[in-house]
Amino acid sequence: MSEQCPQCNSPDGVVRVAESGLPELAPPPPPPVPGKAGKAGKRLRPWAVVVLVVLACLAVLGARSALTEDLSGADAAYQLGYRLGWTVFLLPAPLVWLLGRRTAPEPVGHRHAHTVWGLRMWVWEHARHCRSCRVAFWSPGVLGEGFPGTPGIPLHEFPLTVGALAERADGNTYAKHS
Ligand SMILES: [Zn+2]
Repeated sequence: MSEQCPQCNSPDGVVRVAESGLPELAPPPPPPVPGKAGKAGKRLRPWAVVVLVVLACLAVLGARSALTEDLSGADAAYQLGYRLGWTVFLLPAPLVWLLGRRTAPEPVGHRHAHTVWGLRMWVWEHARHCRSCRVAFWSPGVLGEGFPGTPGIPLHEFPLTVGALAERADGNTYAKHS
């Protein structure tokens, strides 16, 4: 079944955008590779960075005073405690590191990106190209029952239009109006 161009009212030059071979009508770019986001997901939350910096400062200050203080009069056990006391500031560091890693929110953002991309691909697949007029268009009804169709879209506006139609389809605008 051939669809009709809204500009020349003819089905003669109409092809699927995938068959057009035009770079302007290329499919929407896929979301970032999960591997990359996984690495970004291991960064620390801001509060954890602050806590780690504070712990490190306390440890450095403690170590400095422990190593410079003159303890010649004190007994051996006291000296040992004093000299090694600063290390307690380092003990919570691994726990802070574990709790402070960004883990949970990343997959959610990813799923959303996939949904948005899936919608854009769906919109893109339904677009048609008229070779005679050099425009893209969507026929009435192809994106849902109430979808009114579009006029001929200039090729340079095609990617933006795909995004806008995907957003509207996400809110089920057409379904509500049908
Ligand atoms: Zn046409």
